[in-house]
Amino acid sequence: MSLTSAERERYSRQLAVPGIGLRGQAKLKNASVLVVGAGGLGSVVAAYLAAAGIGRLGFADPGLLELSNLNRQVFYRTRDIGRAKVALLAAFLKELNPASRLEPFRLKMDSENLAPILKTYKLVVDCADNFEARFEMNKACFRARRILIHGAVYGFEGQLAVLDPRGGPCLKCAFPHTPPPVKGFTSVPGPVPGVLGAMQAAEVIKLICGLPSHSGRLSIFDIAGGATHFIRLKKRRNCPVCGRKSKA
Ligand SMILES: [Zn+2]
Repeated sequence: MSLTSAERERYSRQLAVPGIGLRGQAKLKNASVLVVGAGGLGSVVAAYLAAAGIGRLGFADPGLLELSNLNRQVFYRTRDIGRAKVALLAAFLKELNPASRLEPFRLKMDSENLAPILKTYKLVVDCADNFEARFEMNKACFRARRILIHGAVYGFEGQLAVLDPRGGPCLKCAFPHTPPPVKGFTSVPGPVPGVLGAMQAAEVIKLICGLPSHSGRLSIFDIAGGATHFIRLKKRRNCPVCGRKSKA
């Protein structure tokens, strides 16, 4: 792939990374990624993916910007409170990298609208803030055979998993029982979704470039204690989503 001199300069630091180079950059340019959620995780994921030169970038969120978002959602501005996050994010990303084709969806992704949209993307990034939405995404991704890059944060803890329908375990294998919903709101120190969102974006870039990924394990980052734990995920034979009797 030939790059313009401006592209060579823009991407020079990542073109020099072993495993990316011109081939990887071409793959990033041809890639399509859907980010579900435009909050603390999703806005960071979308920003790093646009900056990296992802050719087609979708992002979905029904929400309006609230004052309480701003301790962690650092691409938004105080004066924009009350405006739709996806519109604000699209404006920011367009300025960051005009070459990335942006597709904002101002809607809550549910079982009906998720399937037709995600089929048109190669990879899906889970930046939802509740398990109901995560499980819907998991089911839709396994049905459509799309890799799901899961991320979640709770206080100073974050978790990351790459869930691959080509034989790998799914999110329901990792969490067979739905954890109880959080009462009120989830406590989140601002930097924690920043760290996890950046890691999700790094997984996307690695997957597209064919580099080793976190596939098949749940990585838990204890940012308060400075420790990382890895849990090898096993496919459950009776999993309703990816097991033998599943309809996925
Ligand atoms: Zn499963």
